[in-house]
Amino acid sequence: MFHPIFIITLLPALLLSLIATFMVQATFRKYSGVMSTSGLSGAEAARILLRSTGITDVMIEPVRGLLTDHYDPVSKTLRLSENVYSSSSIASIGVACHEAGHAIQHAEGYGWLGLRTTLVPIVQFGTYLSYFLFALGAGIGYLKLAILGVFLFALMVAFAIVTLPVEWDASRRARELMLNAGIVTIEEEAHAAKVLNAAFLTYVAAAITAIMQLLYYMAQLGFFGRRR
Ligand SMILES: [Zn+2]
Repeated sequence: MFHPIFIITLLPALLLSLIATFMVQATFRKYSGVMSTSGLSGAEAARILLRSTGITDVMIEPVRGLLTDHYDPVSKTLRLSENVYSSSSIASIGVACHEAGHAIQHAEGYGWLGLRTTLVPIVQFGTYLSYFLFALGAGIGYLKLAILGVFLFALMVAFAIVTLPVEWDASRRARELMLNAGIVTIEEEAHAAKVLNAAFLTYVAAAITAIMQLLYYMAQLGFFGRRR
């Protein structure tokens, strides 16, 4: 069923994804139980962080789900999962301030964020379309269609790669600013960093998986020499 190249390209990447997901859940759970000395909720911490950089036009609201936190640049809204929004744990404050970091990137016109936002609509329709084109093209033996699918998938890979500097930078800003604003102590900052680094690892795993998947498709189409 699976081509041998599947084992050498995709399997290690999928394993890394699993490890990263496990690590982010484990660190988040651990530091969800460690309360900050400031006693600020995630929402309050994010508000202070935004104010410290002069941002007053970003809304902060709770959203359902676990780790569903995100910044919406269209409506300038920081949506924090209920636990992150209301809890004053180190994990909640770290995640909330990371999301505030995205709002700051947006306000500053940080280039990588702009590029990422531009790619979002392409990724939304493109992922399934690329699978469809590849499967159809390979299925009926129409190579050009399959190559078009692979090209479209390459844009998904670009998106996953562009996400990396955006995520790293948001965490870097969050860590520096929450320390400067007195939201966390030096020790607490180091703990929040563990949660944020684990979260970053999931993005690294996703990017590697996407790259490996692209190589897999390309190998299937004979990009690296004829298959026997
Ligand atoms: Zn982020």
